[in-house]
Amino acid sequence: MPNPDRPIEVAPSSAKLLKLIFTDEPKQRQWIARALITDAIYAVCIGLLSYTVYIGYTKPNEALRLTMGMIVSNAIIYALLRSGWNKKCDDPTLAFPQVLIAQTWIAGAYGITGTLHASVLLLLALVYGIFNLNARQTRIASVHTVTVLGIIILYKSITDPAVYMAEVEWVYFFIVVTIIPIMSLLALQHARIRDHAWVQKHDLETKNAALEAAFARIEQMATQDELTGLANRRFMLRMITEHVQRHARLGHRFCLMMLDMDYFKSINDTHGHGVGDNVIRSFAREMRKAMRETDVISRWGGEEFLILLNETPPQDSSVGLGRLRSALADAIVCDSTPQLRIQFSAGITEYRPAETIEQTIERADNALYKAKASGRNCTVMI
Ligand code: GH3
Ligand code: MG
Ligand code: MG
Repeated sequence: MPNPDRPIEVAPSSAKLLKLIFTDEPKQRQWIARALITDAIYAVCIGLLSYTVYIGYTKPNEALRLTMGMIVSNAIIYALLRSGWNKKCDDPTLAFPQVLIAQTWIAGAYGITGTLHASVLLLLALVYGIFNLNARQTRIASVHTVTVLGIIILYKSITDPAVYMAEVEWVYFFIVVTIIPIMSLLALQHARIRDHAWVQKHDLETKNAALEAAFARIEQMATQDELTGLANRRFMLRMITEHVQRHARLGHRFCLMMLDMDYFKSINDTHGHGVGDNVIRSFAREMRKAMRETDVISRWGGEEFLILLNETPPQDSSVGLGRLRSALADAIVCDSTPQLRIQFSAGITEYRPAETIEQTIERADNALYKAKASGRNCTVMI
């Protein structure tokens, strides 16, 4: 039986044939496969009928009628499944009607196979192993099987007592009455265990997905600044450390830039903290646009930002800042105060071999301080 959860991996021509027989919908494939397994039981039954006809126990026309009945009924079931009509039903597996039909035909075979009729009993039990019925369906199917077989036994023991001897038939009937409910209960239990395992697997997958999302969120929170979405101080320090190592190994140079908005306190004081927050966000957005993809931009503190410039010599490092200054000259940094313009001061320095990260950052800070002291809205390089 093909695994319904996995696409069938076969050579193209076999794949076409399988698709033709089973369709390529996983669920339909599983249900059609079950209907075809029932055909195997019918094939055994038809084989037995042919043999009993051959040895003279069964009348040919009775065997033919039963055989045609089996073939036609399962052809109809297959057509319903293959066409997708079954999807309109409450139970699209069509398991319940298939069990009822199969049990009826097998009970019929019991009534016409003469001395060999007891051999058919095993097939009755087999049908429960193929289909997963629910508890109610299982009960009805068991009652149906026992009733149909009981009627046939009663009828045959009256009309053909030489072959269907009452004293033997009641033993067979007793066996069926005990075995069929046990078989159906076992099948039901098996289905429950399988469903339970499926629910647990599904549960586990859902929990895993939630856990992965939580890890991603934690990772994001640990590396990102909440207000601006830029890198936070912790992530920036990690990036600088990596660049120091790369510098030691490969000689790749890098610069640090410390930016601080000019007179930001007065924005907060005049327009409120909310506007101040919006301005910080807009400033971050403008920085992202003006700087290169490979530059790492972090929010270092309130309205202070530290930028790492990859493989950039100091003389080229202020080009991005030029772009940022001209963008800010026109940018509306807060919709509620469209007239508001912002400026910033910046300090730039290059990492020097063998120094500590703290020394480089302190130098960038000193450069910023000098820019502030020289009147703001400018950049100082040390
Ligand atoms: P200067 O030109 O010397 O930099 O003057 P300044 O007014 O910008 O002074 P400073 O950089 O020292 O002030 C930063 C202010 O930013 C202080 C604080 O109230 C404000 N601030 C810090 N974090 C936030 C924040 O998350 N949101 C808002 N709205 N304001 C903040
Ligand atoms: Mg400031
Ligand atoms: Mg500041």
